[in-house]
Amino acid sequence: MEVYQKNVCVKKDERFLPERFCLKLILTKDTFMLVRNGFDIACLESGVLQRLFHEMTSYVQVIRIEVMAGARGHRSCEEHPAATIGLTLQKPVIQIADWLNEGQRIEAIAHELAHLLLVYRYGLGVIGRRIPRYGDSEDVFRFFMTMRGDWVYLLGQISNTAHHLILLDYLKQEYGIEDNLHIYLLHQNFCVAANDKSRDKESQYGMGLVAFEYERLIGKIDRGINVDHQSEFFWEAYHLAQKHFGKCNSRFIPAPRVYKEGILSFLEDLGYRRQDFVFFP
Ligand SMILES: [Zn+2]
Repeated sequence: MEVYQKNVCVKKDERFLPERFCLKLILTKDTFMLVRNGFDIACLESGVLQRLFHEMTSYVQVIRIEVMAGARGHRSCEEHPAATIGLTLQKPVIQIADWLNEGQRIEAIAHELAHLLLVYRYGLGVIGRRIPRYGDSEDVFRFFMTMRGDWVYLLGQISNTAHHLILLDYLKQEYGIEDNLHIYLLHQNFCVAANDKSRDKESQYGMGLVAFEYERLIGKIDRGINVDHQSEFFWEAYHLAQKHFGKCNSRFIPAPRVYKEGILSFLEDLGYRRQDFVFFP
């Protein structure tokens, strides 16, 4: 059973999980009230997208695609018009906003399918916080003392960034799909988010990761932000991302063990305990 609290999906087992990838659509309670339509990718008449979809269904049999009416997905004015949910149930649902045009729908769906490919074919899963062990008061105390941070953003961004360094080239090389939508959104959202001064520590770490991704996929970060105004948390995560994720690319897709070790070492270097996190599926 799953309970949605704001943009956090809490699954009632020992895990506490972020439940979506970027191009994230932050689903509020209201967003869930919107009409959702099953979507047949055949109408996009893209042979490469259908090939990618069928490749994915050899790893996960049922993948549903839904069009979300009117959803723009704002988080501090960021735009996230596509997302994948349902990973914990092994029933992924790709959701795209209805305002995307045909070409953007192909890119957005291909992007989400490539995330799924990295998860299910290559074993590069998503990370969440482990909820404290029942009866372990120290564990419970530590967990609740750190609850205020935007963990969904930080942990979601870790998997996203590691994936994006691989999947954009992968889509281009294997399927001839240029993911211009992701590059556009990365630039837009980076400029907006990096100038948001109200962010907690975890969010600033997340932004450091975005900056690292920006530099790898677009170019120098001073094109998008004022580098003199960023916090020490931002720079700490930015430099640690270079250290731990610098080798990720489509020619070097890490083994699951290497991928997990890189993420846990990154979190450990930021001052967290590696045993407080769990991977899924
Ligand atoms: Zn993504």
